[in-house]
Amino acid sequence: MASYFDEHDCEPLRDGEQPDHLLHMARLLLDSGLAAEWDLEYGRVFGDGKVPPASKKVVEELPTRIVTPSEAAEEKKCPVCIGLFDEEDEVKELPCGHRFHSPCILPWLQKVNSCPLCRHELPTDDPDYENFKKQKARAKQREFELDNLHNSMFG
Ligand SMILES: [Zn+2]
Ligand SMILES: [Zn+2]
Repeated sequence: MASYFDEHDCEPLRDGEQPDHLLHMARLLLDSGLAAEWDLEYGRVFGDGKVPPASKKVVEELPTRIVTPSEAAEEKKCPVCIGLFDEEDEVKELPCGHRFHSPCILPWLQKVNSCPLCRHELPTDDPDYENFKKQKARAKQREFELDNLHNSMFG
């Protein structure tokens, strides 16, 4: 005689199983596993300091100023050349707020997309790298979701 489960083509649940939660959990785990593999793949390409340069447009649009006499009097130094910001020097400011001589920071940003001091990243013109960054952000979000899920199940 056919049981309920044969007719409905599904497995009986064991005592205490919570199908929705477990399925959701499994999917999240699978997803984050895939993201980790993806991360590894791109780590090989972009690890090793092989980062793309900062976006040309972003670099062109960096705020540029001429050092004023009062700023020169503060005797602040450019972190790249360790030289003083002298009056009339041209200075660029990165989004993180760090300032550098234009001739010091421009060649850097043609090779690397981050601030030499704090590693704050600037956008790049490299679509693969931009995807990689998005993927990293999504993997972080997944970790956060997993934590929340874990807390809601076991907390
Ligand atoms: Zn400098
Ligand atoms: Zn910085």
